[in-house]
Amino acid sequence: MNWMKRILLLGAVLSCVFAPAFAQTTETPPPDGTTTPTEIPATLPPPERPTARTTLTIGAVEVQLYFDAIKQGGIGVLHVIGDGVTAARAEWLGDIIPFFPARDDGLFAILSANIEQTSREYDLTVYVDTAAGTSSASTRVRVGLGGFVRSTFTVPNDRAYLIDPEIERAEFARLSAVFEDNTAPRQWDETGFAMPIFGEFTSPFGELRLLNDVVETRHTGWDMRAATGVPVQASAAGTVAFAGLLDIRGNYVIVDHGQGVFSGYAHLSQIHVTRGQKVTAGQVLGMSGNTGRSSGPHMHWEMNINGDWVDPRIVSRTWLP
Ligand SMILES: [Zn+2]
Repeated sequence: MNWMKRILLLGAVLSCVFAPAFAQTTETPPPDGTTTPTEIPATLPPPERPTARTTLTIGAVEVQLYFDAIKQGGIGVLHVIGDGVTAARAEWLGDIIPFFPARDDGLFAILSANIEQTSREYDLTVYVDTAAGTSSASTRVRVGLGGFVRSTFTVPNDRAYLIDPEIERAEFARLSAVFEDNTAPRQWDETGFAMPIFGEFTSPFGELRLLNDVVETRHTGWDMRAATGVPVQASAAGTVAFAGLLDIRGNYVIVDHGQGVFSGYAHLSQIHVTRGQKVTAGQVLGMSGNTGRSSGPHMHWEMNINGDWVDPRIVSRTWLP
């Protein structure tokens, strides 16, 4: 991870997780219209394979781009198809993003854009290795505006000390070490990433929050309405990379899904898994709650890909090869 991304990440992690029990800024109905927050997530149909928006050619190899642009906090999928390709990687925003085997054919990679990434065009270069050596192709990709909202929040007096940016920085350092590893193979299946509970979405991803009129932070995930004690399920299969108590996120679980993709579940009242444990999609990780920098019971769901906080709702709707 380069220094620029570290700074951007740090900014994003001055952030997170604070429960808007009394200050909802948006109300988005759940996809199927259900409002029962304790229901187990319904199995949504996996996203359909889209047609490629752009195709680059490197000799007989095709690089397909399944996006026109990548939003701040969004993702874009690259797919390399061709005979004799042994490996591929992308150079994007100062990082090298590895490709992994796709389900059907070829290799794929997930590009991400940080919430704070300036909206403009950037170079993208894809390298493919064949018996003949390494070849590459380049294009320009626009990072689009995330359309994030701004809001003010009051942290309750007994937890107001948690708005200290130093506390967030320390928490970021712990999380950053977990998210560094993007070498494990993919563990999710063709159903992709599901919601951890079946609740209403309340506070949106990327929201810029002014806490107690003092500290500005970025919301790194989505809040979902939930009473204390709602079973929180793994969005997809993976390995528990963190399970424990953090200052801001409270009782917190991170699942490593492989390929630099992580999901996080914050403010839990109980944790039912331990670090290193393999979990299946839908396995209960713990119970929703109100621990950490939170002003009421709710579920905070977040995802990190290649070190960037990304919108979990975008990820759950994106077809992955
Ligand atoms: Zn939150």
